[in-house]
Amino acid sequence: MDNQKIYVTQSSMPPYEEYIEAIKPLWNSHWLTNMGVYHQKLETRLKEYLDVPELSLMVNGHMALELAIQAMGFPKGGEVITTPFTFISTTHAIIRNGLNPVFCDVKPEDGTIDETKIESLVTDRTVAILPVHVYGNVCNVEVIQKIAGKYGLKVIYDAAHAFGVTYKGRGIGSYGDISIFSFHATKVFNTIEGGAVAFLTPELYGKLYNLKNFGIRGEELVTEVGANAKMNEFCAIMGLCNLEYVEQVIDSRKKIYEEYENQLKNIQGIRMFEKKPDVKQNYGYFPILVEAEYPLNRNELYELLKLNGIYARKYFYPLTSDQACFKGKYCNVGLDCSRKLAEKVLVLPIYEKLKWEEMERIMKIICKV
Ligand SMILES: *Cc1c(COP(=O)(O)O)cnc(C)c1O
Repeated sequence: MDNQKIYVTQSSMPPYEEYIEAIKPLWNSHWLTNMGVYHQKLETRLKEYLDVPELSLMVNGHMALELAIQAMGFPKGGEVITTPFTFISTTHAIIRNGLNPVFCDVKPEDGTIDETKIESLVTDRTVAILPVHVYGNVCNVEVIQKIAGKYGLKVIYDAAHAFGVTYKGRGIGSYGDISIFSFHATKVFNTIEGGAVAFLTPELYGKLYNLKNFGIRGEELVTEVGANAKMNEFCAIMGLCNLEYVEQVIDSRKKIYEEYENQLKNIQGIRMFEKKPDVKQNYGYFPILVEAEYPLNRNELYELLKLNGIYARKYFYPLTSDQACFKGKYCNVGLDCSRKLAEKVLVLPIYEKLKWEEMERIMKIICKV
């Protein structure tokens, strides 16, 4: 039992019979994709659950971000201020839109964009700010909005980690102009693969609808260079089933999260990110920072856990700005804090069905070093 592998996450799934029952109608309708009834239903439900004014479902979180950026119609070569301490998707989505990422450093206390460093990066080519609510940690949305207002920039949040997070009693996706969510199998809420764009202006709905369906406007009319980013009905039904349990999932995660916190708070050299007041968290990730006072460095601890069958992850190392595909192509100076975090961070296993004994196994190793 002691060498049973433990991965960083495990996808939440509804009871088997429930899903099987729920997909049965598809064998009558034969309507498997192309904005079917379950697509519509899930869109409505998620709009309520996420507490956002408007929402468009997408095939995955990456395409949600790519098409959200495309929908804004920024001039090619425009600059987008973003962070490198994120999943590669964030940076890819900018570059695949013909825009240039301008990397801004993050804050040591929570890994989100350092709002005090944004303004110095604004130029006459800047079109948007694209911060990340990394691990569900909420960015300084107030200051970011102020800067955006001052320079006439759009704010697009990568909220892929922030499903169900609220700030000051409002859905996190209602801040900024646009937020994107990921419903990938590894996220707090999943539709197997899936994602959504949340936004403020109703006019954007038609635009995104169009872009996710090849830009087709009528049987004989294509008005835009769109993509295929439609969520299919099997995924939408998975979402509807999983949504029934998401509170329960978040609750189980919370228990594990709090126990981790309790056990680690007195361990020298293990630091945890700070919590921002007025935030309802989703406990999607449990990142720790392995500081110099700990007997092992991050890589050594990672290897030790791995030897014991525990697969923690170095999210997010390396920084996206250091990846082989863009190294040296974009400005990435002044990223000291991001780089330090990337060297120290380790995400521990956390998911709904993580057993108490499994957690103890992990804690034993970290606390006894
Ligand atoms: C998961 C993720 C994405 C992409 O979402 P997919 O649904 O996997 O395409 C984008 N940004 C961040 C920060 C993510 O973690």
